[in-house]
Amino acid sequence: MSFLTLEQVTVRYESDPVVVALDDVSIEVEAGEVVAVVGPSGCGKSTMLRAVAGLEPVGSGRILLDGQDLAGVPTHHRDLGLMFQDHVLFPHLSVADNIGFGLRMKNQATSEQSARVLELLDLVGLSGFADRTVDQLSGGEAQRVALARAVAPSPRLLMLDEPLGSLDRLLREQLTGDLRRLIDQLGVTALHVTHDQVEAFALADRVVVMCDGRVAQVGSPSELWHQPASVFVAEFLGHPNLWVRGDDTLLVPVDAVHLDHSGSRSAVVDLVEFREGRFRVSARSDDDHPGDTVVFETDAACVVGQNIRFGFDAQQTQTLGRTVRQPKMS
Ligand code: ADP
Repeated sequence: MSFLTLEQVTVRYESDPVVVALDDVSIEVEAGEVVAVVGPSGCGKSTMLRAVAGLEPVGSGRILLDGQDLAGVPTHHRDLGLMFQDHVLFPHLSVADNIGFGLRMKNQATSEQSARVLELLDLVGLSGFADRTVDQLSGGEAQRVALARAVAPSPRLLMLDEPLGSLDRLLREQLTGDLRRLIDQLGVTALHVTHDQVEAFALADRVVVMCDGRVAQVGSPSELWHQPASVFVAEFLGHPNLWVRGDDTLLVPVDAVHLDHSGSRSAVVDLVEFREGRFRVSARSDDDHPGDTVVFETDAACVVGQNIRFGFDAQQTQTLGRTVRQPKMS
């Protein structure tokens, strides 16, 4: 049995109209694994974390942690570490007191608390920061203190909800790597929620893609990227070349498209971006499949409005069925 199991979990909000925020969701997280839950805003990610945390009642289904059915177990007895975007540090406490907060709640001996706090400060690279106040920290340092605080009491499961959400992109990218290394060093099992697919892919061993309260696909980052199960997943992951052909959609990887003067297809360039040493060109086809978005990368400079001819490697394409979104039952 997995370390964390969600078995056909349904959560409804009895608002008007009723919202089925989680609809028959089953996922499994193995011990030591980092699983990211991704999907557009409103797909049920936060509700999933809140249900595991015991902050939202489960309508039907079961949540099991290390073999224990969590039904009826209050939040503070679930032994979870929470790092939420809006779960800010306590401004009136020092860095050390923030990190030691959960240990004091557990009534751990003072000497053990101090040793654990020092160990964590070292681990997150903030030795010497113990007596600082929270307002003397940069955004990245504050996030590391928040992580140290979440893991200090050695929770069974670490849950992260958009942990880097409020930081700018460059800092997020750096901290994503730091966070992954720290999670590995701690050996903790983690469930991580984000709307950002890049962050999910960078952090997680496996990714759960959610759509409208349901699981759209589960897989490793590479499985999801190379074999998206639906147009929804392909779009969400950022595959741009999705060409509608009757009831099917052809997924053409960016790498499979190339400029070719004698290519069989033609398009008009509508956007050129310089990215990491190459041009990323977006064009719209004007041949017998008009309107296909054609994105490819090239070393040749292209200009907006230019007519190009292109080809693509048909062997790299995949056919995706139409996304079937089942109606929600209220
Ligand atoms: P996400 O985290 O993916 O953005 P949420 O879990 O916050 O999604 O929300 C899932 C759905 O449940 C959304 O349609 C949202 O509007 C709805 N929802 C969330 N919280 C409540 C609530 N307290 N009352 C009613 N509906 C809610």
